[in-house]
Amino acid sequence: MKIGIPQSLLYTYYYPLWKTYFEHLGVEVVVTPTTTKEIMDLGVKNSVPELCVPIKVYIGHVLKLVEMDVDYIYVPRFVSIQKGQYFCPKFMGLPDMVRHSFDGIEKKLIVPTIEATDDNIALYKNFKIFENILKISSKENKAALDKAETVWKTFRKYCLKGNSAIEAMDLAFGDVVEEETITSNEETLTIGLVGYVYNVYDPFISMDIIKKIREMGVAVKTFEMLEETEMNKQLKKLSKNLFWTFSDKLLAAGYSFYNDDDVDGLIHITAFGCGPDSMLGKLLEIESSNFAKPFMTIRVDEHSGENHLQTRIEAFVDMIRRKKHKTKRGA
Ligand code: SF4
Repeated sequence: MKIGIPQSLLYTYYYPLWKTYFEHLGVEVVVTPTTTKEIMDLGVKNSVPELCVPIKVYIGHVLKLVEMDVDYIYVPRFVSIQKGQYFCPKFMGLPDMVRHSFDGIEKKLIVPTIEATDDNIALYKNFKIFENILKISSKENKAALDKAETVWKTFRKYCLKGNSAIEAMDLAFGDVVEEETITSNEETLTIGLVGYVYNVYDPFISMDIIKKIREMGVAVKTFEMLEETEMNKQLKKLSKNLFWTFSDKLLAAGYSFYNDDDVDGLIHITAFGCGPDSMLGKLLEIESSNFAKPFMTIRVDEHSGENHLQTRIEAFVDMIRRKKHKTKRGA
């Protein structure tokens, strides 16, 4: 049996778990290629214009899977992974948007509801649905989940050591060794990159922003590299949070970067049409002057150009370098 997983949205956060789980059960996992113009165009053509770019991209990936002739397409409905907090409504309604976008897709969709009290979603209730579909016992199901949880925790451990999510994934799968991913110690600047994994790691949306920044001799920190306890500590200081899980993680990461002496400036990468980010971006922008740290927003849409992005990052890095140099000289 072939199960298709779109390489989009929370793929970069949960693929180590999903791949391990399905393969342990003898299922062939088919993943879409990284986003291309063709996939983006498919998504744009088959979505309502009001949707944010990442959801349009996801819909493009689902359509691509239909072409790739899989038996099922895994489209989980993420509801909550923290008590009292929820996913952005576009996530919660995603399976319905997919279902109503294409005639005949319904029979291919597997739509489990994902609910947990922390980021670890390898809970029996979230995967029980597969016992019927794959004709497996609950014992086999739980054994696959245990294995999946172990690999996912290994992935998270590598993220926390400062690897990008892509590097951490390769490390968790044993495709590379740690020495191959350690970044140079010669970097003299660090940027806190605030963005959802589906924006930061989608080479079509963010145009490999981490690689671009690193190529300028600048280290990058992202929210996945922060301990949950550190993020919760930051959120507790606020009189009110944003309510949406990943937006809160980014807000916490933003505050953590502002309070981190090693971080010289923040870049917020956001996609056109994102409601939660309009609040998040504004809050972080206001705090920029309070913490006296440079902050820049990069908003991408389906027409963004690579040169424009490169120029803006270069100018931002240049400005931070000059600021740091001046401060060192006591000017
Ligand atoms: S948080 Fe923003 S970018 Fe993510 S799904 Fe919701 S609206 Fe789209």
